[in-house]
Amino acid sequence: MKKLVLILVLATIIINCKSENKGKIGSEVSNITTEKELDTIRLTNGFDFPVGKPDAKKYYNAQKFGDNNHLGDDWNGIGGGNTDLGDPIYSIGNGYVSFAKNVYGGWGNVIRIIHFIDKENQVESLYAHCNEIFVKKGEYIKKGQKIGTIGTNDGTYPAHLHLELRNEVGLPIGDGYSSNTKGYLNPTKFIKNNRK
Ligand SMILES: [Zn+2]
Repeated sequence: MKKLVLILVLATIIINCKSENKGKIGSEVSNITTEKELDTIRLTNGFDFPVGKPDAKKYYNAQKFGDNNHLGDDWNGIGGGNTDLGDPIYSIGNGYVSFAKNVYGGWGNVIRIIHFIDKENQVESLYAHCNEIFVKKGEYIKKGQKIGTIGTNDGTYPAHLHLELRNEVGLPIGDGYSSNTKGYLNPTKFIKNNRK
């Protein structure tokens, strides 16, 4: 009887150890696989312009960063007016969609993308007044991927893309204009300095 109890106890211990190890090895493997997969897709690989892929061909920057305390660039088609309504908007770089929805007011449809330059450095791009949104929060996307289309914010403005670039990730959406540029970058200057 004592032998049987001992065998049962040993068997229980062995089974427990096995299942613990299995769990540990299983989670480790899946973490490593996930990290490897993510590293190839989530790091940036240079930046391009968000319209007229990849060089903003047939578009111009109607209100540059800093003009009238503007915190971004306003991309417009050279045809003027609403000739660019519905034109594609492309992600300026590989990244992670952290926000994609209509916030109404002066903003309308907004997409925010976090770009992982390396383990320490990230920048965030913000695309506003979109006519359509083609991405969802939580998606990893590639440079040059079509993420939305140029809009008017429901008729508030002539169609254009308001593009912001921030080196402080996750700031409040803000007002689009401010004399305080802390946390913001000049998008055109940054893209020009970081082409592949
Ligand atoms: Zn603007």
